[in-house]
Amino acid sequence: MNMTEFPAYRGAMEYVCLGCGARHAGDELLYTCPQCGGVFLLENTRFSALKEHDGAYWRAIFDERAATRVTALRGIFRYYELLAPILEPEDIVYLGEGITPIIEAAPALRDSVGIDFAYKNDGQNPSASFKDRGMACAFSYLKSLVRKHGWKDVLTVCASTGDTSAAAALYASYVGAPLKSVVLLPHGKVTPQQLSQPLGSGATVLELPGVFDDCMKVVEYLADKYRVALLNSKNSWRILGQESYAYEVAQWYGWDVSNLCIFVPVGNAGNITAVMSGFLKMYDLGIITRLPRVFGVQSEHADPVYRYYAAPKASRHWQPVQVSPSVAQAAMIGNPVSFPRVAMLAEKFIAIGGEKAFQVVQVTEQQIMDAMIAANRKGHIACTQGGECLAGLMNAKALGLIASHEHAVLDATAHALKFSGFQDMYFSNTFPPEYTVQPDTSLANRPELLLSADKKQSLDAQAYTECAAEAIVAKLGLAKK
Ligand SMILES: *Cc1c(COP(=O)(O)O)cnc(C)c1O
Ligand SMILES: [Zn+2]
Repeated sequence: MNMTEFPAYRGAMEYVCLGCGARHAGDELLYTCPQCGGVFLLENTRFSALKEHDGAYWRAIFDERAATRVTALRGIFRYYELLAPILEPEDIVYLGEGITPIIEAAPALRDSVGIDFAYKNDGQNPSASFKDRGMACAFSYLKSLVRKHGWKDVLTVCASTGDTSAAAALYASYVGAPLKSVVLLPHGKVTPQQLSQPLGSGATVLELPGVFDDCMKVVEYLADKYRVALLNSKNSWRILGQESYAYEVAQWYGWDVSNLCIFVPVGNAGNITAVMSGFLKMYDLGIITRLPRVFGVQSEHADPVYRYYAAPKASRHWQPVQVSPSVAQAAMIGNPVSFPRVAMLAEKFIAIGGEKAFQVVQVTEQQIMDAMIAANRKGHIACTQGGECLAGLMNAKALGLIASHEHAVLDATAHALKFSGFQDMYFSNTFPPEYTVQPDTSLANRPELLLSADKKQSLDAQAYTECAAEAIVAKLGLAKK
């Protein structure tokens, strides 16, 4: 087989309802079960055909594909057979998503934390968050539907804490007609950078007062009653795309993940769903022979999943929470849509990997900010959710949940630049009280204006250069050569 060619294998995708077990053919777009309203996961009913080959075969295929020049296989679809193997190469939208770098912690940071760890920089995706992985798959699937049906108009909609809308708008604008993008945002609850993204991509940007959970209900209502394509993670094609994160981690560590602890911030819980699902698929095919351990991380300002798992097993019951303002704004969700997916997959994970294979830790807002600042002062590019992961690792260590021989992989889910407003608040000590963050003012880093505009006016160009240079010499105490 020529590894650089597009694979001939095709699967058959079915939606499986996690509520009642009903199955629906994957050849149309469905979000929730028509029978019971439950959420779906997609299943390839020809998955067992992949088992005709052993794990070594698949590892070799994916390793060889790392060098492919076939555009459709360069991103998340390097793992085509594990994602949505019903797509044709012409359907696949590739904007450079996936295959993000894994950066070992700077030595000084690692030593202060006391555990070996790395960040996987998913902020280095095209719209600067991991959401691009899911969108690449969802939009490729949409393209295949458009090709099949000859649709003339497709309105894509999503509610967003900022990054879903940035990704959806980017992919919709690239694909173009007949797709059009509409995004619904909670007014004042996304960062200016995140707001600029769908605006720049030409999407219709609508805002409502309230939080993400309110907007989610509105788009669900629309998707139930009107002809729109929903791009929230209720759309299970997104989950498939996001599984690529797990495949990449396994491949990077030479397909041995037995010593790894994977930390994932949990908001709507789509990402942790995808991560667990991905590792389970690889395990099923013998691509990996042990599971890693997975740690969900939640802020105490939005922690329904933590609360569920903190209760003793017999008395667990699902209860959405009212969120309060969180610096991990992209995960500030009180009623995660994917909770039933997490519950189901966590059980599978624990059945194979043992009681400690899946856990959820809680962090404070203060810990999130302190961790993000600490990481970025040591050369990382973590967003607040990436800070949340590091805070989660530190708490896991303090609680004795992680051993010193283990290696943690933290999801830096977005680029630091998207959340720089929180860094500004930290440095200028201007957090509104509801965030409950008290900055370490010794870390405050602010620009310093050396000369006045009047001074510049009063000098010619040469004199100005000398005067400015001398101001710097005085400031830094530079020694002459
Ligand atoms: C969406 C998002 C999250 C939360 O992921 P879920 O899949 O909703 O749990 C975390 N961090 C960032 C940067 C995000 O955009
Ligand atoms: Zn159902």
